[in-house]
Amino acid sequence: MAVKNLEEYQGVWVFIEHSGGEIAPVSRELLGAGRKVADKLKTELAGVLLGSKVEEMIPEVFARGADKVYVIDDPVLEQYRTKPFTHGLFNLVQKYKPEVVLMGATTLGRDLSGAVATKLETGLTADCTELDVDPKSRLLLQTRPAFGGNIMATILCRRHRPQMATVRPRVMPEPPRQEGRTGQVIREELGLREEDIETQIVEVIEEKGKAVYLDKAEIIVAGGRGLGGAENFKLLEELADTLGGTLGASRAAVEAGWISADYQVGQTGTTVRPKVYFAIGISGAIQHLVGMQTSDVIVAINKDPDAPIIKVATYSIIGDLFKVVPALTQRFREK
Ligand code: FAD
Repeated sequence: MAVKNLEEYQGVWVFIEHSGGEIAPVSRELLGAGRKVADKLKTELAGVLLGSKVEEMIPEVFARGADKVYVIDDPVLEQYRTKPFTHGLFNLVQKYKPEVVLMGATTLGRDLSGAVATKLETGLTADCTELDVDPKSRLLLQTRPAFGGNIMATILCRRHRPQMATVRPRVMPEPPRQEGRTGQVIREELGLREEDIETQIVEVIEEKGKAVYLDKAEIIVAGGRGLGGAENFKLLEELADTLGGTLGASRAAVEAGWISADYQVGQTGTTVRPKVYFAIGISGAIQHLVGMQTSDVIVAINKDPDAPIIKVATYSIIGDLFKVVPALTQRFREK
């Protein structure tokens, strides 16, 4: 069902994901991206905070660029569950009619955005890597990889509102904090009781084992098929340890069974934005590039001067990785 009065819908909203009283990095990144979209549309930016005891996070939402914060604070929202969160966000959208709603492409964001978009009978572009505004039509330009990452597709939502998108973590920079910045807080009731919800959280079990926080790493030393075997990741580990970095990998290395899938960077792995990304024995297929090309500095080590990774690299070392990597590690150790 198309919305008749598109002009009724105003403002850009960012759904604020949080845990342990802290706003998720992707939500801070989206406040930065949302600010740019709102400025282009000459409209307001709002953060939407749903949860239990979330008041203390409000100043941070303003400090990252919001003009307004919509809050639903209710014990029923203590842990994420699809039904109460969908109910809360759906009702807010129905009442205040935002033009754009953005969420992180996280497990929670993917679940909630799909449920809310379905209930609102509007479109949803999942997993965007770029957002912009068409100055003529004022439509949100939602860009994401398509057809196995072979093309970047820009998707428009012409006849439905709000325009909804999830955006991958780490593809957009975090906006700086503006201390003391403030705005309007709008509080609403959830209007749902615990007995209205079929699902209950019985226990929360922390994930055990070595956690791989690729999306938070500042230095990533990633290896690909050029390594030739699992044992050669040792070379990369030595470089990563010397620099205080984390290992990463291409899908070819993961599929060969040389390293766990937790380390995969790219379209079907993690999107990263470290200060330095080493791509070692990685050709730079588009599906890999979409996951790392916004890194601040890219260092490619490859024996092929025509490998696509060389085109996006800040620095390229053309040579055999088995000679280059130990030499680099040695030099960094001496520093
Ligand atoms: P290759 O392309 O084989 O490159 C190996 C490189 O190593 C070459 O450039 C070679 O010159 C270099 N080399 C070899 N020996 C040496 C040496 N001794 N010294 C220096 N350089 C050397 N890929 C991802 O990485 N992440 C994804 O998330 C991802 N998702 C995908 C999703 C879909 C739907 C599809 C279809 C594909 C996806 N891929 C993904 C796979 C992707 O298309 C490529 O196949 C993969 O990235 C290639 O990995 P690679 O660069 O390690 O291997």
